[in-house]
Amino acid sequence: MISFDDKLQPLLGKKTADALETGLGLTTVGDLLRHYPRRYDERGKLTDIRSLEIDEHVTVQAEVRKCTKRQMKARRGHMTEAVITDGTSELHLVFFGKVAFVAEQELLPGTRALFAGKVGRYRQNLQLVHPAFEILTPESDGSSFLQAFLPVYPASQHINTWNIANCVNQLLEIWDGVPEDPLPLAFREEHGLTGLEEALRSIHRPESWAQITVAQQRLKWDEALAVQLALAQRRKASTARPAPSCARRSGGILDAFDARLPFKLTNGQVEVGEQIASDISSVVPMNRLLQGEVGSGKTMVALRAMLQAVDAGRQSAMLAPTEVLAAQHARSLQEMLGDLAQAGQLGGAEDATRVTLLTGSMNTAQRRQALLDIVTGEAGIVVGTHAIIQEKVEFHSLGLVVVDEQHRFGVEQRAALSARGAVENPHVLVMTATPIPRTVAMTVYGDLEVSALRELPGGRSPIKTSVVPVREKPTWLDRAFARVREEVAAGHQAYFVCPRIGDEEPAKSDDEDKRPALSVIDVATMLAQGPLRGLRIEILHGRMPPDEKDAVMRAFAANQVQVLVATTVIEVGVNVPNATVMAIMDADRFGVSQLHQLRGRVGRGSAPGLCLLVTEMPEMTATMERLRAVESTLDGFELAQLDLELRREGDILGAAQSGRRSALKMLSLLRDEDIIAEARVAAQQVVDADPDLEKHPGLAGMVGTLLTEERADFLEKA
Ligand code: ADP
Ligand code: MG
Repeated sequence: MISFDDKLQPLLGKKTADALETGLGLTTVGDLLRHYPRRYDERGKLTDIRSLEIDEHVTVQAEVRKCTKRQMKARRGHMTEAVITDGTSELHLVFFGKVAFVAEQELLPGTRALFAGKVGRYRQNLQLVHPAFEILTPESDGSSFLQAFLPVYPASQHINTWNIANCVNQLLEIWDGVPEDPLPLAFREEHGLTGLEEALRSIHRPESWAQITVAQQRLKWDEALAVQLALAQRRKASTARPAPSCARRSGGILDAFDARLPFKLTNGQVEVGEQIASDISSVVPMNRLLQGEVGSGKTMVALRAMLQAVDAGRQSAMLAPTEVLAAQHARSLQEMLGDLAQAGQLGGAEDATRVTLLTGSMNTAQRRQALLDIVTGEAGIVVGTHAIIQEKVEFHSLGLVVVDEQHRFGVEQRAALSARGAVENPHVLVMTATPIPRTVAMTVYGDLEVSALRELPGGRSPIKTSVVPVREKPTWLDRAFARVREEVAAGHQAYFVCPRIGDEEPAKSDDEDKRPALSVIDVATMLAQGPLRGLRIEILHGRMPPDEKDAVMRAFAANQVQVLVATTVIEVGVNVPNATVMAIMDADRFGVSQLHQLRGRVGRGSAPGLCLLVTEMPEMTATMERLRAVESTLDGFELAQLDLELRREGDILGAAQSGRRSALKMLSLLRDEDIIAEARVAAQQVVDADPDLEKHPGLAGMVGTLLTEERADFLEKA
């Protein structure tokens, strides 16, 4: 009986096992059986030699046209040169050493054979150097190459697809299947899935396309289900301990706040607000993700939830990714609350609370005071960076945690958060302006319930975006500067965003032809001396001391600074409604989602916003396409989908980054939305009935394998 955990070496021999391990990291039977073909070539259909590409490891099926052996000139020994054809094109082969003799004898003109090797070039011709080959004869049965479908495996320089196919076939000969299918029969029937053994056999040795589809369906399901089970278990675990109920109370600070709101809440804000109000009233911990375009009013929703908590005698913590943002949030919450945030101060309203900022860069006295306010409960709302969770900050009674800008806050950090309260588990609301495609929301963020704000509050002007191609239209840049001057003359403000700070060592470029990216320092100097001479210009970047950053942000918010030249530190949460123009320099160096996020910083007031994507990229390049896409739509969901298509899927799960193989081998986040959605529902049902999967050992095993393989890292955001 062979099991998935058995090592390959005793079965396939040391040399082959080593090759599989070195090149592809495959060490066990399970690894090899789950090393799925990338595609299939159908027998009889000659591989098109014309479509070969340099450096590809390929297997071609072709006929020998000629084959000659000769003495080498420069060194001792012989070489055999052959030319093969598949009817479309010719390919040259060379063999050395002993194989040169074998090749000359066996590769007679007219012989049909399979050749596997890496495509190189010699003079004008494509060439395979020293390829492995196998002669095709009507009698050679059992050969992997006489299958109806020739599986093409992801290969490496250590082992080619043909040898991998041989290994798989050898293994399948002696493999006696799985003792028990991890998916119970009833479950398979319900979802129309084939058995695991059958799926694995036919994925490697299919007899028809229909078989391949059926097998893929099952194998994709396994992956989707394991992920969804793990997430459902997490959801369950995070609700195992009760949350502090923050029931709505009328006549308190929330009502006082609502009574003076200068505007009407949007329908979305009302709807999501009610959902959250009911969630946090309960003792079942809320774990909710709130998505919404920049400026859609998420902070307003969060603030109202925090006030409900205050009314219930609980505290709320709001976490921001950077100190600049935390300080800004604290300030804007204080502004929104006015005297409702001045508890204990002269002029403080009845029912007032206090907004307390806690950051790493506060001095000892400030810090001590903040910690005191927090532990006594004086501080109804605590604003800080994520670091305040890691530290042992003691709350009087923490009811709700709001996390701003989800994309920098992974599942692990959320888990740390829940683990904090020894007895109670605070409610958690995470907010993000980066739209997340549904499939990703269901996997990477699958432990959260999702709500979305899809409309912007009324009166907001849409942002106009224009690409400024400085190579092709050099005068456009001057016009851009003129626009900035006009806006400033009208009392507005502008951002310039650059990819680099510029205070580091002379910038190196990894690509010789590419100049280093524009820097904050250089651009600020250039603007001050030239096109924007006379305007008040300041810089902002992540390596400035926190108090300096804070001073700059404050001055910009107060319109004492007209032009802010910054890195992407301003990407999230910065809110200066008076800023109306943003020029993103070397825009091609930013990702689609990042550009979208950045431009959300302008047009936050009633005046229309303008975003200029300045680039030296020529038209008709993939990079320019991306910029044109950002120019053409404001739909963040559409752009997120585009971004997903442009990135390798592995990156999203964090696997490609860490160099490990992804747990998702067959499942595609782009194409398999239906399977993911169905598996999510199924997983929830299973976990509801059997939280620890005690009655489902097969499923428990699948989750176990997934978690060890990925060490749960896939759950963390890239
Ligand atoms: P987000 O956090 O989603 O980026 P904010 O909550 O910061 O959005 O809201 C952006 C701006 O819109 C703020 O100045 C806020 O006061 C204002 N705002 C929020 N809700 C409304 C509303 N319903 N009507 C008008 N303005 C609103
Ligand atoms: Mg915000």
